[in-house]
Amino acid sequence: MSIAENVKEIRERIARAAQESGRNPEDITLVAATKMNDAERVKEAVLAGIDVAGENRVQELMEKYEQGAYEGVPLHFIGTLQTNKVKYLIGKVAMIQSVGSLKCLAEISRLAKKHDLVQDVLIEVNIGGEESKSGISAAELPVFLEEASKMENIHVRGLMTIPPILGKCEENSRFFYKMHELFVDMSAKKYDNINMDFLSMGMSDDFEEAIRCGANIVRVGTGIFGARHYQ
Ligand SMILES: *Cc1c(COP(=O)(O)O)cnc(C)c1O
Repeated sequence: MSIAENVKEIRERIARAAQESGRNPEDITLVAATKMNDAERVKEAVLAGIDVAGENRVQELMEKYEQGAYEGVPLHFIGTLQTNKVKYLIGKVAMIQSVGSLKCLAEISRLAKKHDLVQDVLIEVNIGGEESKSGISAAELPVFLEEASKMENIHVRGLMTIPPILGKCEENSRFFYKMHELFVDMSAKKYDNINMDFLSMGMSDDFEEAIRCGANIVRVGTGIFGARHYQ
């Protein structure tokens, strides 16, 4: 199947999952996770009608950015971000979805100020409490958001997560539910300068379940581009 056919099929599945949960398909943002796909393939996906391009690695993003791969859609950074690499992203990305430390957030704020812009971000939550994963624990999130709300050049727009892989869809949904609960709790707190607009969760294997649990951003890679070929 071509990239265009895949995007069409994913859109249909998104629409069905949205309708099943009483929501409007247009309220769900489809991010194409473009890692390891070259500029030509990213352009194909853009033409096919993805909403956003999501890139994981700073180096790869800069190369494809130079090649004009993302022209026509907003670009989000979705990978693990080292503080010393933030400088390559500011001014290029509409959103950093994967902020996992205050140090990183402070650096984003500092550089955004320098560029005279306000950077939209999502806070990555380590919902499964896995040691190997980056992100803020659910327990630390309120204090983290309190700090984030004081940073003038940061606008927190919501939460993102990559839950543990358990294999069974029903079990994954436990983390999706937990994440949605947290999202609703944080919305109710009404922090200054923070809006819980977006909940980013769900990938190729489980985006429908994520939508049914309240996600409004899904990040799909292999479902659009096919299997990745690691060298
Ligand atoms: C690769 C990636 C995805 C997409 O994963 P697929 O299983 O290929 O759909 C989503 N989110 C992040 C952060 C990723 O790195």
